[in-house]
Amino acid sequence: MTALELISLASQALFIGLFVAVLLRALTRPSRAAWDTVLLFGSVAAVVALVLAADWLRLGDQPWLTGLVLLLLSVAPYAMIRLVDDFSRTPPWLLPFGAVAFAAVGVLGFVAFATAPQLYELVTITWFLGVGGYAAYAFARAAVNSRGITRRRMTAVALGAVLFIGAIVAAFVDALATGVDLEAVTQLGAFFAVIAFFLGFAPPDWIRRAWREPDLRRFLERSLQLSALRDERRAVIEIQHAAAAAFGAAGASIGLAVEGHPVLRYVDASGEWIEYPDDAFIAGRAFREQRRVVAMDAAGADPEHASVYRRNAATTVIAAPVTSDDRRIGVLSVFAERAPIFVEDDLWLLELLADHIAVLLESRKLAAVESTLRAREESARLKEEFLSAAAHDLRTPLTVVLGQAELLERRVARDPNAPVDAAGVTRLAREARRLRDLVSELLDAQRLEQGAAVMDPVTTDLRDIVEEVRLRFHDLGIDFKANVPDTPVTATVDVPRFEQVVDNLIENALKYGAAGPLPEVKLERDNGAARLTVVDHGLGVPEDERERIFDRFYRATNVQALPDTGIGLGLYICRRIVESHGGRIWVEPTPGGGSTFVVSVPAQSAPAHEMQPETPASVPAAPGAEAIADA
Ligand code: ADP
Repeated sequence: MTALELISLASQALFIGLFVAVLLRALTRPSRAAWDTVLLFGSVAAVVALVLAADWLRLGDQPWLTGLVLLLLSVAPYAMIRLVDDFSRTPPWLLPFGAVAFAAVGVLGFVAFATAPQLYELVTITWFLGVGGYAAYAFARAAVNSRGITRRRMTAVALGAVLFIGAIVAAFVDALATGVDLEAVTQLGAFFAVIAFFLGFAPPDWIRRAWREPDLRRFLERSLQLSALRDERRAVIEIQHAAAAAFGAAGASIGLAVEGHPVLRYVDASGEWIEYPDDAFIAGRAFREQRRVVAMDAAGADPEHASVYRRNAATTVIAAPVTSDDRRIGVLSVFAERAPIFVEDDLWLLELLADHIAVLLESRKLAAVESTLRAREESARLKEEFLSAAAHDLRTPLTVVLGQAELLERRVARDPNAPVDAAGVTRLAREARRLRDLVSELLDAQRLEQGAAVMDPVTTDLRDIVEEVRLRFHDLGIDFKANVPDTPVTATVDVPRFEQVVDNLIENALKYGAAGPLPEVKLERDNGAARLTVVDHGLGVPEDERERIFDRFYRATNVQALPDTGIGLGLYICRRIVESHGGRIWVEPTPGGGSTFVVSVPAQSAPAHEMQPETPASVPAAPGAEAIADA
């Protein structure tokens, strides 16, 4: 036996094997497409059987035998265009034309083959090249338009069709033209064609698994990012996109069960939730019956919603319940304009995605429960922290106030006419003031927590604010150095709030300034911002705590042992105020020791005479010009 004969035998065996495989599938899961594949491979298998039988019976070159073989072979291109029509959009005249042309070729064959066999063979070649070639092209186009495993299987089918048509045409040419030997081309073409058809129509499981893997991985990767999405609606929309992409389908939809109500929630076209009874649509059927449902003709299977299916180009719908441990979470359905070519793969993927979506939705729910619990815990922790900080910080001045008051009380009781203890009263007043300040800080922090810090913003020259604060401290006998520019530094701020920030920073600079020189305040313009710095030469803030000192109740480790510090709310309040002005506050080390606190808030542009020296100083810049310069 020659190598070519061996290949030919293998092709014949494979074609018969392929026929048996598609026949079994059509019998177990009948559909038009399944029977069309039976028609395709049945015709080829019949030719193989006929040739083998003729050989065995030594029938020789009977003209009727050739005619019958040709007729049977001509079924293949017709079956191919039927398959094309099963899976993709084709012109409406294609099938009727194919049927008529097939009948004509057949009739012509039987009438003409005895008298003009060569003419018949020419007609058959044309038929193969024309119709078969069209089918191969259409398969290739369908492959390009589909995704995932369908694309791979479709590519194999297209390749099989091209090789098959090529092999048949080569056989004809071999028979018709003298002096040309295309036997090898025919045999090899047929052999590779049947392998490609096998991969397309009946791939072994391990190939199928390998082909599905990339889509599945893409879906998993995409869906993993979804667990972070807060908004459930957005998450559902994204999962739908990911599922549709994994299928290469027109779309996918997820219905979510609502506990205690016989409805399913869907996200409609405008992105809003919409509820339907839980048995509505094909999806509802899959949900109610807790099994997958395949509807090749959705409008026919569910006439009540036919218009909805048509509007969404949903000719075919496959749906599977989304369930976790008997908990009915919802339903996943995927729809396409044409029947899925390889339903069994799609169903497998659908169920897998449905299971994965169940896990995803459950974990989202758990995450939501966990974050609520965490928020509750956090709020309880804050309250506790607040109470203990408040209790601790209020107790010290309160003890002093009480002690002092009791002392005075006893003195008065002992001797009502004794001179007033001026020092005692001063101490009493000082501690009471401190107490009041602490309480207002606590209340202030709480108020800021609940609402905006900026009550009444006005456009102000920040130099006035610095001056105001400087005078206030001057009255207390503290003269810090204020360094301000000659021209206004205008910003829109809530004046009392902004003063509070400057006050607070200076108080801190004095409090933590050790015995060093007095703090310095500097105001300057910095591009579009006003920049206020409070420089001290005191204790400084440890590097790793520079962020945290702006947190509530936080006190740096290097001050915790100091007496008479605050409650750890001042900088927190400052940060809230500055941020609600659209600004930033931070601390830097002062060279040589100490801290430099910096506040930066958006400022109006510099006055016109500073920006454009040629403008006479007496002409005020128009507000519009300022805005433009600002922009
Ligand atoms: P407190 O009431 O404790 O002063 P603040 O919120 O005003 O609260 O400050 C928080 C912490 O930041 C302080 O406890 C201190 O550790 C640190 N801090 C603030 N200002 C200075 C500064 N000028 N020098 C060094 N450390 C400072």
